[in-house]
Amino acid sequence: MSLFAAEEYTSAVFTGAWTPASGGDAEVVSPSSGAVLGRTGIADAQDVREAAARAATAQRDWAATSFEERAAVMRRAGDLLEAHQEEVVGWLRREGGAAAGMAGFQVHVAAGECFEAAALASQPHGEILRTAKPRLSFSRQVPAGVVGVIAPFNVPLILGIRSVAPALALGNAVLLKPDPRTAICGGAVLAEVFRQAGVPEGVLQVLPGGAEAGQALVADPHVRVISFTGSTPAGRKVGEAAARHLKRAHLELGGNSPLVVLDDAAVDQAASIGAWGSFLHQGQICMTAGRHLVHESVADAYVERLAAKADALTVGSAEDDGAALGPIIDAGQRDRIHHLVTSSVASGAQLRAGGTYQDLYYRPTVLDRVAPDTPAYAEEVFGPVAPVVRFSSVDELVELANSTEYGLSLGVVTTNPMRGMEIADRIPSGIVHINDQTVDDEAVAPFGGVGFSGTGARFGGTRANLEAFTETQWITMQADPARYPF
Ligand code: NAD
Repeated sequence: MSLFAAEEYTSAVFTGAWTPASGGDAEVVSPSSGAVLGRTGIADAQDVREAAARAATAQRDWAATSFEERAAVMRRAGDLLEAHQEEVVGWLRREGGAAAGMAGFQVHVAAGECFEAAALASQPHGEILRTAKPRLSFSRQVPAGVVGVIAPFNVPLILGIRSVAPALALGNAVLLKPDPRTAICGGAVLAEVFRQAGVPEGVLQVLPGGAEAGQALVADPHVRVISFTGSTPAGRKVGEAAARHLKRAHLELGGNSPLVVLDDAAVDQAASIGAWGSFLHQGQICMTAGRHLVHESVADAYVERLAAKADALTVGSAEDDGAALGPIIDAGQRDRIHHLVTSSVASGAQLRAGGTYQDLYYRPTVLDRVAPDTPAYAEEVFGPVAPVVRFSSVDELVELANSTEYGLSLGVVTTNPMRGMEIADRIPSGIVHINDQTVDDEAVAPFGGVGFSGTGARFGGTRANLEAFTETQWITMQADPARYPF
């Protein structure tokens, strides 16, 4: 049996049931072929306002359900994702442009997010405090209320569900605004999974839309916490608006993550690590290795092997099992990538592989002899591009790594992990992988960046999720009413 039928979500938003959107509708397009796969509703500010009011009412009953009931709903949601894996993978490939392995990985992590959220519902949620008075003093974590989740196109299932599942498990209502380019795999799938798992009407609503809907979500007085994943410029606007409305915003933003290859690294393995880090999912991952910092003694061999790997990769339709890389999401993103590559070459970088495209298929690209002011090094490319910079000393490496304001992920390849730790201590980063590349995600691990990459570890694991989606309340109680001098 299929998870949902096209006629349900066509031109609709999910308010607990599929309903026509005030903001009209838009085509759902396959980036692989350009084929129109259906139509999604587009939420406007009015849809958001109505949804927020409904959510605030529905949240009270949901928060009052037992933790066992909420945990059971989360377990069922994880089971549903696994049971419908093939169908969901199909949408991630067709609509999201994810190659088979990347699509399967998303469903696996998404189901894990639900199972971890089930465990979160039964965790202790407070602590007994010391107090100087004869009374009981404790703190407890209470649901924040209505949580707004704004998600990007690139890894739509994980980047929505990693906020939606823990926020629901902790007794919040959630308004999810997926990117309209991935409204089905990043929106309709979640709506149906959680509905069929037993989330009551109004507690989860899905409102695909653009910046207007996102801004309405941030401004709405019913929405108390915003969980935003996307680019640094949009995140900055969200953060500014949230501050104006005095609400918390968790910001997971862009990256330009360094992969460091030390002089003692095994070059073959390092090149494989580097290729995976830069080319997986066409480089459209926030943690993508955006800069390869390679010791000069191994750089020639590293670049040669990396370029050979790039040349050997197949790029093609995400629906083709043989394609290692699928399409870029749209022509605008592709043109931005190509501009960064061509302007980097114009400014002196050496093109060692790729640098060409056909339709939305961009060849994996290696740029050598890159400098800190080379466009593809200085900016987040968000495409399958590996710029290589050489360094001669650890001090120079640290200076190069710290030459951007981003701080999402860091990879260090070395035969001596302690050298890796010493380098990690000198490069601000939310995530560090020693002897691995920069891209990874597990539902149990805290995830987040520093600097221009965001406001710290906000997802993953009990502590980060509890902090993100609850408020801390201080409570005291004593046997006799207090007495005062007046
Ligand atoms: P984007 O910022 O353009 O869009 C992200 C989401 O924000 C979309 O849903 C969009 O509709 C919405 N949005 C855009 N402007 C808004 C505004 N003013 N107010 C409210 N909402 C608004 O990002 P994108 O190009 O779709 O995604 C790619 C970016 O996301 C990259 O920079 C990437 O590094 C980043 N990203 C970060 C993480 C992370 O966890 N740190 C994960 C994935 C992607």
